[in-house]
Formats: sequence, C-alpha cells, structure tokens
Amino acid sequence: MKRYSAFAIAREAARNHIGWGRAWAKRPPKKRYDVIIVGAGGHGLATAYYLGRNFGITNVAILEKGWLGGGNTGRNTTIIRSNYLQDPSAAIYEKARSLYETMSQDLNYNVMFSPRGLMMLAQTEHEVRGYERTAHANALQGVETEFISARRVKELCPIINIDGPRYPVLGALWQARGGTARHDAVAWGYARACSDMGMDILQQCEVTGVRQADGKVTGVDTTLGEIGCDKLGIVVAGHSGVLAGMAGFRLPIESVALQALVSEPIKPCMDVVVMANTVHGYMSQSDKGEMVIGGSADGYNNYTQRGSFHHLEHTVSALIETFPIMSRLKMLRQWGGIVDMTGDRSPILSATPLGNCFINCGWGTGGFKAIPGSGWGFAELMAKGQSPLCDAFGLNRFTEGRFVDESVAAGVAH
Ligand SMILES: Cc1cc2nc3c(=O)[nH]c(=O)nc-3n(C[C@H](O)[C@H](O)[C@H](O)COP(=O)(O)OP(=O)(O)OC[C@H]3O[C@@H](n4cnc5c(N)ncnc54)[C@H](O)[C@@H]3O)c2cc1C
Repeated sequence: MKRYSAFAIAREAARNHIGWGRAWAKRPPKKRYDVIIVGAGGHGLATAYYLGRNFGITNVAILEKGWLGGGNTGRNTTIIRSNYLQDPSAAIYEKARSLYETMSQDLNYNVMFSPRGLMMLAQTEHEVRGYERTAHANALQGVETEFISARRVKELCPIINIDGPRYPVLGALWQARGGTARHDAVAWGYARACSDMGMDILQQCEVTGVRQADGKVTGVDTTLGEIGCDKLGIVVAGHSGVLAGMAGFRLPIESVALQALVSEPIKPCMDVVVMANTVHGYMSQSDKGEMVIGGSADGYNNYTQRGSFHHLEHTVSALIETFPIMSRLKMLRQWGGIVDMTGDRSPILSATPLGNCFINCGWGTGGFKAIPGSGWGFAELMAKGQSPLCDAFGLNRFTEGRFVDESVAAGVAH
C-alpha cells in the first residue's frame, strides 16, 4: 500500500491524480478463514484491524451486506466523549477516545479528529447534581472533565441563550478533549489498513445463515455462497437480533430508528459540541458549516432507517429555546439509523452459547465514539477468550443482575 503524505498529494496534484491506487482490494471470497466478522461498520472493521495488529491474525474476512460504513457508522452525528459514570464504561470509552487522538497517524488516514471540547448542559437542579457526581467519578477514573458555570458556558458558546424561558442553563459538564471525527473516514481508514494486512472485505455479501456442528460455528451461508471459519464475530448493530436468531440464541436487544438532521451551511458560529439533554437535542457545526443536529430515538421498535417530519419538528423546537438563532435556519436533510438498545444502555461484548461465536452489539445511540476501544477489546476477547475491557459487558450480566447502568449518560445523549 502506498502511504498517503503531503508529498504524495503534491505529486498527484501535478499529474491529474492518475496515480492513486484502490484504498482496499476487491477479491472473491476464499473457502475458509480463521475469523469471519459479520458487519463492516466501524466496530467490525476496528475488530479486524486490532486482530491483525495486536495478535497477528490476518486470515480474516469482513462480510457486509451493503457497502462498508453504510450502517450507523455512516449515519451518526460523530460525537466523541468518555464522560461516563460507571468505571467499566469510562475505561472502554476513554481507551477509545485516547486511540482517536492518534488514529490518523496510526492508520495513515486523516480521520479529521477534532477535540474541540464538548459540554453537556445542566438545565435542572437534578442535572446539576448528576453532572457534578459524574465529574467526581471521572476524576477518580482518570477521565478529564469538570463542572463549569453558566457564565463559562456562555463564554465557550456565545450563541447559547443561558436565560432560556423554560430551562435556563445552570452549568455544564465539560470535557475539553471531547469532540468529533469524520465518520466515513474512520470506516475507510480501518478498511484500508485491514486490506493492507491481506484481509478480505466482501461488500454486497449478506449473511443468511450460520452453520453449526457440535455446538460450534463451522461457517456462514451468504449471498456469495458458503464460507467456512474457525471463529465468528457478529458485529451488526441494529440487526444483532436477526443474526443471533440465525445462530439460535436470543439477545436482550431492541432495534429502533434514531434520527438526525443537518441545516444549510452557515458561517462558523460554534466551535464546541453542545448536548442539551433536558430539552432533548444536541448540535455541532461541521467543517462545511452545516449545523449537525441529533435528537432522540423513535418511541417504537422498527427497522426503517428513515427520518420523519414530526421528529424534526420536535427536535428543532426544543433546540430553539437554547439556540434562538436556529429559528432562521433552513434544514437541508434528515435520516435515520437502526440502533441496538440494551436495558442498561451499555454494550454487549461477549462470548455466546456457541463456543467459537462472539457478539459485539448494544452500542445503541452512542457507539461511534467507542469504535477503537471496542475493536481493541473485542479483538482481544476473540483472540484470547478474555479481555479486561470487555469483562463487565458479558451477556451473563442480564441473568446475574450485574447491570452497567448508563441510562443517564447514554439514554438521550450520544
Ligand atoms: C442518527 C444517529 C446518530 C448517532 N450519533 C452518535 C454520536 O453522535 N456519537 C456516537 O458515539 N454514536 C452515535 N450514534 C451511534 C453509532 O452510530 C453506532 O453505535 C455505531 O456506528 C455502531 O457501529 P457498528 O459498527 O456497530 O454498526 P453499523 O455501522 O451499523 O455496522 C453494522 C453493519 O452490519 C451490516 N449487516 C447487518 N446485517 C448483516 C448481514 N446479515 N450480513 C452482512 N452484513 C450485515 C450492516 O449493513 C452494517 O453496515 C448515532 C447513531 C445514529 C443512527
């Protein structure tokens, strides 16, 4: 693989960009792989990448029914933070955030990580107490956050109306190294690095069945034919229940559409990420100038991957209270992705009843930020059978009552 560099860009600019090779190879499937990963979203690709990089396992195929990064990875609002309450969550999200810091260099691919700072507004006394508690927990976990005053909020984000009519801003939980990254680039960067290690990325290859013998997976049926494997990783977000059904077990997962929208591009007016959980909305400004806006999940289970007008109206009317300038913005487009929600709003990174089959799902509304940490831990789990990052997130927590309750940190905000 040719490395990307300033020199390469200059050279290609001088010769009409005729010298760029394919970012990842297009090859037919082999008969058998050491590991098959189902789902070429960020989590599946990151798992494959760390299997190769950390454990030298490169006879790997990543199977994707559509195009890589076309699921939630390419549909999310790209917020990155690690200010979670529970220790196991803070550990995996902070691992991910720290890997984002050097991801562009590690992958030799510009993922446009922008640690511009992120605030979660406290707009009720209850939220003030909750976020103060999270800031104390984060201090013990080694995650750098602080509770800031309303005046500081206004200094950091002048377009906020802190004297809102229903919910004045009382302060915020601030993470200075939180921010955003370019979602497609994260998927593409991992895909390029996986392909470079000799792994096969098979797009338009839907898994339709899981083959088993003696309580173990032997391979999968796909739209490109049967493919054998020694280990199987299921990493399909909103379709996790469907894949688990094929493998013959059930998951405590609900699938719902989560929606987002962007406005027309405007001049730079906001260089932080703001989340307003009480009024239910969050916003950042993209490099193109669009205001990227996210709201809540649909109130009923579905697989639609679409936006809806009532949702747009609800989210925008809520945000106008806090950002009055939005009343004059035109909205350009909206969309939805199918997110996989667990009861405690924490992920599942686990072995399954089938000895050599592992599952990574349940990231719900907030898994983009976790991609590198999840890939790191899940690769270790698949390679060695155990990973400290994944220990708390096993399927057995639902039968043993050891929930990792993040419903406050993850219920609305992303
Ligand atoms: C609107 C929206 C906003 C969000 N905002 C944020 C945010 O700001 N910050 C944040 O951290 N998170 C956010 N999220 C959540 C985040 O996007 C997801 O948690 C994360 O992208 C999940 O990645 P993944 O790789 O697990 O899943 P996906 O990217 O969905 O990848 C799974 C892949 O599996 C494939 N697949 C499914 N079934 C099969 C099959 N049978 N055979 C082969 N392939 C199959 C799918 O086509 C898909 O490409 C948001 C999500 C949405 C929808």
